[in-house]
Amino acid sequence: MDILAHLLWSYIIFKGIPNMNWALFFGIFPDLFSFAPNFLHLLFTNGWRKYKKKSLQEVQKIIPPYIFMIYDITHSLIISSVTIGLVTLIGGTFPIFMLAWPVHILFDIPTHTKDFFPTHFLYPFSTFCVNGIRWGQAWFMVTNYTFIIVLLFLKSF
Ligand SMILES: [Zn+2]
Repeated sequence: MDILAHLLWSYIIFKGIPNMNWALFFGIFPDLFSFAPNFLHLLFTNGWRKYKKKSLQEVQKIIPPYIFMIYDITHSLIISSVTIGLVTLIGGTFPIFMLAWPVHILFDIPTHTKDFFPTHFLYPFSTFCVNGIRWGQAWFMVTNYTFIIVLLFLKSF
């Protein structure tokens, strides 16, 4: 799912909890850490040209391999659960706001296909993934943002 939708869903789900801003951060952190380094690199080197007029499969071949590694780490239910467990042990309280991280992954599992950034949610133990739908399709974007807008409206009362 796109990063703005992740942010808005995090707001809808975690509005009103203590440290809600951290929930917003953890709701986008898996994509932010995966894509921001390459985004900044392309921005400052004008590297966008090599991505122009390419299919998703062609784009996937020229994306630096480290991005897939970061994506797998930040999109693992195993790694997010262990991290939340460690933070709970060290901090002495359960960080509810960090649940936005596994929620992000749960949203990504059915909204990614095997062809483009599949969500290996059992990484590093398995590269199993669900061949879901492509979130960039118009019908999905319209449906998703309709739900988001309606729920934001209902949450505003
Ligand atoms: Zn993601």
